[in-house]
Amino acid sequence: MAAFNWFWKAMGSSSERNNKKSKSIVTDSEGLVEQLSLLDDAELAARARVCAAGGVLEDKSTFLACLAVAAQRKLGLKPYHVQSQAVLRLLEGDVIQMATGEGKTLVGAMAATGFALTGKRVHVVTVNNYLASRDAEWMRPLVETFGLSVASVTEKLSADERRSAYRSDIIYAPVNELGFDVLRDNQITAREQAVQTPADVALVDEADSVLVDEALVPLVLAGSRKGDAPTGQITDVVSRLRENIDYHISQDGRTVALSDAGAHRVEKELGIDSLYSEENIGNVLVKVNLALHAKALLIRDIHYIVSGGELQLIDASKGRVADLQRWPDGLQTAVEAKEGLEVSEGGRILDTITLQELMRRYPTVCGMTGTAVEATDQLRQFYDLHVSVIERNKPLQRFDEQDRVYATLAEKNHAIVQEIQTLHATGQPVLVGTQDVAESEDLAEVLGELGITVNVLNAKNDEEEARIIAEAGDEGRVTVSTQMAGRGTDIKLGGADGRDRETVVASGGLAVIGTSKHRTARLDNQLRGRSGRQGDPGLSMFFVSLEDDVVAQGGEDDSLVIKPAPDGRLDAKRVYDFISHCQRVTEGQLLEIHAQTWKYNQLLADQRVIIDKRRANLLDTDQAWQELTARAPERAAELADVSTDAKITAAREIMLFHLDMAWADHLEMMDDVRESIHLRAIARETPIDEYHRIAVREFKELAQRAVDEAVETFTTVEIDEAGAHMDDSGLARPSATWTYMVSDNPLAGSGNSVIGGIGNLFR
Ligand code: ADP
Ligand code: MG
Repeated sequence: MAAFNWFWKAMGSSSERNNKKSKSIVTDSEGLVEQLSLLDDAELAARARVCAAGGVLEDKSTFLACLAVAAQRKLGLKPYHVQSQAVLRLLEGDVIQMATGEGKTLVGAMAATGFALTGKRVHVVTVNNYLASRDAEWMRPLVETFGLSVASVTEKLSADERRSAYRSDIIYAPVNELGFDVLRDNQITAREQAVQTPADVALVDEADSVLVDEALVPLVLAGSRKGDAPTGQITDVVSRLRENIDYHISQDGRTVALSDAGAHRVEKELGIDSLYSEENIGNVLVKVNLALHAKALLIRDIHYIVSGGELQLIDASKGRVADLQRWPDGLQTAVEAKEGLEVSEGGRILDTITLQELMRRYPTVCGMTGTAVEATDQLRQFYDLHVSVIERNKPLQRFDEQDRVYATLAEKNHAIVQEIQTLHATGQPVLVGTQDVAESEDLAEVLGELGITVNVLNAKNDEEEARIIAEAGDEGRVTVSTQMAGRGTDIKLGGADGRDRETVVASGGLAVIGTSKHRTARLDNQLRGRSGRQGDPGLSMFFVSLEDDVVAQGGEDDSLVIKPAPDGRLDAKRVYDFISHCQRVTEGQLLEIHAQTWKYNQLLADQRVIIDKRRANLLDTDQAWQELTARAPERAAELADVSTDAKITAAREIMLFHLDMAWADHLEMMDDVRESIHLRAIARETPIDEYHRIAVREFKELAQRAVDEAVETFTTVEIDEAGAHMDDSGLARPSATWTYMVSDNPLAGSGNSVIGGIGNLFR
């Protein structure tokens, strides 16, 4: 923590200087607005273009004034002083912290317009499809005023529609669609098949969510292939293992390990000598571990649901069914086997990229979020980004109560229900943030029995979610949601149209209740930020019990000896200090996991850069033909009758096919190495060093193998005017591909795991 404080102080002073400078630029711009508002649209656009001539924004005051005039004229929004300031910080490439409801959508569009005026193409990165199209349409009149084009890319667009959307100056798109298009574009065999046009800037909305929380989520492109069946025998043997005898779950609930007794039992039942022998370690042991992970750590209805004979994953942090999500192949089949479901067809993974790797590909990244300060360390460490804090337009009127700490979970849950009843009785709207879907549903059920109707937010689509969240400020409304749901939607007091605003303001505004602390204070603040927008009154409070995961994990090495009040409440400074301490520990653990995991990813990211260059070279030149003829001149001579164009195309297809397959093999192989690497640690090798050694060695072979195989194909496959007949030789690219996101750590973000399976704890 000491390093953090030092760093933050240093940052604070430099951003203060920047703020002073930008304040004076903004003040100057405000002086120009009246005069510039006399210009018509075309004149205004011309004036703004002059500011950006030469590829840099020379006259920032005039530029801001032009945008302010257009925003007012086209959107009916007069940018606040702080919004213009934020625009300047974004243009400098910072991540701005700007509270919920301060109008970041407008800020982002103004900054994107600034970048676009200097000739840069901008991807405005959103957290979902709904927000991408909402914001693109909302901001379109502003952007188009300056003769710039804007589009959104969403899930349902065809390749052609995407291709034309990506040619716009400003593109709004959810982060996963951007990544999927990168992956698909890395499979093309002719340049004109690409859908993306490279962008210069990524402007990331909800930046901490994308850049930190979801950073290690891999996006996957898979092609169809019949999957390996998991062995029923292993599932069967593992299903009979007993916790604390045959296996142990780590204190933090993230890993599970066989005990010696458990290992012997498995060996005996499978009739094998040793799980740890060279022959079994990379195969049987991996499968046993997957089956054990599925059995011990993945709980039905918390981590997944079974519906219509299929497994549906629950995204723990968002609390909803995650469409198209699969766990890594082995784990997916292990859970399917555990539930006795038909094992789904496995795909061949063609390529994967993590969000972090994806974002680091952009020459410039900047972003905005309500909670950036607490992510300062990560943003600097992983992206070399600085945080700028933007003041609120109106002072905060929300009251953040002291945490309410209870000895046991049951006492805490009882108090939560009571508090909601009390608040609800006054007509004050209440928004409750829970840790997972199961908890939301339990709470809603108990409140329902008490005659309180509840809007529960989960497993809905983003648009519907936005609609429900928008109603959370209605008089007397109780909304229960997992914390991430509905990000990006504004909660207006007294209904979306503000009809009952006076009444709701009089009742105290929106009350936000957190049913437990998150692993990081940042997510607590994100939830709090739902209330108190633009100077609205409001209230926030968090409930904690000593049995909560965060306390159990963060306070593992410490204990708190204090006598609770009769209702279980613990109210002393010592208690609050202890809770903060626990949260800082879990926060540190998250950062450590992130840093460690990134170490594994980084090497592959570097190798991908090399592959990308090679690919581009093969695509854009006749390099493939040159290399193949050099290696197999006789074969080249045989093709004398084939036209040059056809030969070049055929050579390119052959080379790319083998390069892509070699890369996919490499990823698959490194994935297996990673799965089993902690087992190798038993053999006293440092896992990460060992991983690196293997990755470097394999990558060298990859390049050579891809060329050798291409030569082999070149000499054997039929080549004529129609190109290379790869299909006839069983070398076809997968006929169908699909994309999905993998919840890298299936347990991240889950809350009180004890809730699973033992009835409703709110009773
Ligand atoms: P954020 O993303 O920061 O939470 P939004 O961009 O969703 O905020 O905007 C919240 C609300 O504030 C929207 O209803 C928007 O119309 C309104 N708003 C934004 N800027 C202004 C402004 N300059 N004047 C008036 N209303 C504004
Ligand atoms: Mg927003």
